[in-house]
Amino acid sequence: MAAMAEPLRASFHDVLESVRAAVERSRGLLALLVVDIGDLPALETRFGLEAGETLVARLAQRLAFAMRECDEVLRIGDGRFCVLVGALQNRGHAVLAAEKIWRLTDETIADAVTADRPDVRIGIAIHPAHADEPRELLRRAQLAAAGARERGERLLIYDEGCDVQVLRRWELKELFAAALEAGEIEMHYQPKIRIAEARPAGAEALMRWIRDGRAVATPDEFIPLAEEAGVIQSATWYALNVALRQASEWPAATLALDVAVNITPGVLHHREFNHMVESALRAWNFPSERLTLEITEGALIVDPEEAMAKLHCLRDLGVRIAIDDFGTGYSSLSYFKKIPADELKIDKSFVTRMLTDEADERIVRTIVGLARPFHLSVVAEGVEDGATLAALAEMGCDYAQGFHFAPALPQRDFLEWLDGAMETIPPTDQCA
Ligand code: C2E
Ligand code: CA
Ligand code: CA
Repeated sequence: MAAMAEPLRASFHDVLESVRAAVERSRGLLALLVVDIGDLPALETRFGLEAGETLVARLAQRLAFAMRECDEVLRIGDGRFCVLVGALQNRGHAVLAAEKIWRLTDETIADAVTADRPDVRIGIAIHPAHADEPRELLRRAQLAAAGARERGERLLIYDEGCDVQVLRRWELKELFAAALEAGEIEMHYQPKIRIAEARPAGAEALMRWIRDGRAVATPDEFIPLAEEAGVIQSATWYALNVALRQASEWPAATLALDVAVNITPGVLHHREFNHMVESALRAWNFPSERLTLEITEGALIVDPEEAMAKLHCLRDLGVRIAIDDFGTGYSSLSYFKKIPADELKIDKSFVTRMLTDEADERIVRTIVGLARPFHLSVVAEGVEDGATLAALAEMGCDYAQGFHFAPALPQRDFLEWLDGAMETIPPTDQCA
């Protein structure tokens, strides 16, 4: 049996002392394992602080009991343990020890709270390979635990990728909020084409984070971070205002172009959301019929009633609603009966493969067929070539968007593109 963990957390100094002592007494390799129970705060909220404390004490006891005499278990934070496993012959043994701890932790939590599967990750750093010094060894095991969560692994031995991956994420999160203030966030516009007439119908506003002319990160990276950092509301307010201001400068009189703005589920559910849309429309004196809000099916899952009510109000204002990434969510047929939407955007994963994968082709065709009786228009996103465009035209798809026409462009380039659009749109057999 290993030395027992204090039910109360050990001080940082104590942890370093224990690591130092373990390094000194260990013959062979020493593994420092950081066991991270990610959902402990949620468990405590659900079952009470006391339940959390009991669970942690029980876990400390079981861990200590299962390890060897020369090992040590320390509680280093809320829902965090450090286990020192000495006298190892190789890395494989460290992984075996981590496996054992993972199973034990997982079982103990599942027994105690019968909630969803616990979210346990273990990071491993090995002395002397990863660090000589106790402080650095601990830091690397912590980074490995965070890296395990990031990569969806249960266990992870420290590697240099952990620094880059984990630290970059935290850094980006902080930087994004500052980037909004610093004017590093731009809106770019990707044209949407009406297939039958081969003419631009509008554009989707996509956010870009640009510093010194280069992209700092992609939206797939920074939008989730903006959500985590709690700045997605202000980012959306910014996106909406910039998009409406810039779209006011488009040649609407001749082309009546609409602009589409992406809205994450959390933003739609925000109490002030509808008010925010109304205020922005008013501020830029922008016709509501020319604004489309793109939401994903996920937005309708959490509180469908509330989401539906909000969407109805927005449509009453004249705003158009598009269901983004359609086909990747959980829509059922009954969804079509009541969905307050005007447009379905077929996810690009189906469109880019529709000429090479028969199942994808059938999915696209089915969505187009399904939309018609419900008076929904269909946009295919991710159209990368003329052959795909021709296939979509043949199916009766209404709109297309994708690199075949243009990527998302800065306002000035978008206006130039519009100027030459009639001549530059690459024709298909159908719409030449
Ligand atoms: P999305 O809404 O599905 O946007 C379409 C993405 O597909 C864009 O990536 C676009 O550049 C890319 N794309 C366009 N044409 C093609 C094509 O022909 N082939 C391929 N393979 N890809 C194409 P982007 O701009 O990197 O945006 C990624 C996601 O980030 C968006 O997916 C959207 O969910 C989110 N996002 C972007 N801007 C905003 C924003 O202002 N607000 C919010 N809430 N989310 C945003
Ligand atoms: Ca979109
Ligand atoms: Ca999409």
